[in-house]
Amino acid sequence: MARILLVEDEPDLQQLVRYNLEREGHQVRVAGTGGDALAELRRASYDLILLDLMLPDRDGLEVCRIVRGDPALARTPIIMVTAKGEESDVVLGLGLGADDYVTKPFRTRELMARIKVRLARTRAVATEPDKARIEVKGLVIDPVRHLVTVDGAAATLTLTEFRLLHAMAASPGVAFGRYDLLDRIGDGDAVVTDRTIDVHIRNLRRKIEPYDALVETVRGVGYRFADG
Ligand code: CA
Repeated sequence: MARILLVEDEPDLQQLVRYNLEREGHQVRVAGTGGDALAELRRASYDLILLDLMLPDRDGLEVCRIVRGDPALARTPIIMVTAKGEESDVVLGLGLGADDYVTKPFRTRELMARIKVRLARTRAVATEPDKARIEVKGLVIDPVRHLVTVDGAAATLTLTEFRLLHAMAASPGVAFGRYDLLDRIGDGDAVVTDRTIDVHIRNLRRKIEPYDALVETVRGVGYRFADG
């Protein structure tokens, strides 16, 4: 079940889409104008926005731009509903950060399928914070692609270095003991000592220069990723 904001000014479509969404167990609010939509989004939180682009008061693209520019709303998925033959709206909308679109007239079944996919994807990210990209200054850690870049250039980390960096960066400010970190790198079979970690950290720091200071030494404990 999800909370969905349906932004649509045509009463027939409001009714039809709302009926189908509620039948799937979702909670639906309807906003008939862009202004109502923005007011509603600031009043309550939603899991998904279904956004008609042709609204009486303002362009749906404008609503999309405002939502994406608001840090509190920026991550809420948006599916645009566009008029047939308005490909330029689709291009603009996706460029503004909308996640997907359907073209009117759409089949209800297709719309429901798109919504389902989008909600499932959002949940997957929410329940797997391990898969979220971490970006600090010029350092980007992408666990999905298993890639670290330093000022845009790929850093050649070993698997162990990657795991160390990711484990710490995912919990900035938290001090990890050397044995904690050994667990994290899952090197159970290898004969390692806690000093092995120091060597890995030294190599890791060298590879992420000039951001090496983000990996801080916590005296008597181990290491942590700088917080803020
Ligand atoms: Ca409309």
